[in-house]
Amino acid sequence: MGPPGAGKGTQAKILAEKYSLIHLSTGDILRGEISKKTDTGQEAQSYMDAGNLVPDNVLLSMMESTLIELQNSGIILDGFPRTIPQAKGLNDIFEKLNSKINHVLNIHVEESKLIKRLIERAQNSGRKDDTEEVIIKRQKVYTELTAPLINFYKNEIIQIDGDGTIDQVTQRILEYI
Ligand code: AMP
Repeated sequence: MGPPGAGKGTQAKILAEKYSLIHLSTGDILRGEISKKTDTGQEAQSYMDAGNLVPDNVLLSMMESTLIELQNSGIILDGFPRTIPQAKGLNDIFEKLNSKINHVLNIHVEESKLIKRLIERAQNSGRKDDTEEVIIKRQKVYTELTAPLINFYKNEIIQIDGDGTIDQVTQRILEYI
């Protein structure tokens, strides 16, 4: 977990490779759906372009079928759950699958640094939601809808300082693991 720009995707990729986990980024999956012009992609696009969250029911049905397919594999979830209803829905899915969350990592970085990072990334990401206005909107959405998950997962959450180089942040995570 972590706000947009904290480095979730970067660190998740590194960990997935190191521990042979399947990396599931809901942002990447949704961008894939948009480029394939599927019904899910068409439904998601306007929310994503505006920096809003795609509705919980879309995410939950997409993730339920993906997680059922991947049953019993080691998975690192990146960008999901992002709301309390998604987290509750994920618990129900895992209960059905007789599976569970082992660890929750929260990468935190000060908001002004995040905005600067994302504006830099915008120059070569080609992402439609990387304009300054949408970047600020995504931080606001994070604070309102996603940050409450820190309390939801308070018993299993591990706080990782996300300020520093990619390697430094990876080292902090590996130390914990
Ligand atoms: P990301 O690549 O994780 O920054 O996600 C990009 C965009 O995809 C977000 O701003 C949302 O519009 C959408 N998205 C990704 N994951 C979720 C989620 N779990 N719930 C709702 N919307 C999501």
